[in-house]
Amino acid sequence: MSETEQQSESQCVSCGIKVAAMNAAAFDCPECGTEIHRCPTCRKQSNLYECPDCGFRGP
Ligand SMILES: [Zn+2]
Ligand SMILES: [Zn+2]
Repeated sequence: MSETEQQSESQCVSCGIKVAAMNAAAFDCPECGTEIHRCPTCRKQSNLYECPDCGFRGP
């Protein structure tokens, strides 16, 4: 009965770390609207993100 939190599956799109307990940025892909999460580390480094759904890349 511990799989009720869907939010806990959120991962940073750049490094793949689980961002559930972090102060991660969340935004929608400009192409397909999929929710994208990025951890504070990658945000600080301005890593590119890649949408897992449509492959859109952005800063
Ligand atoms: Zn990251
Ligand atoms: Zn997308």
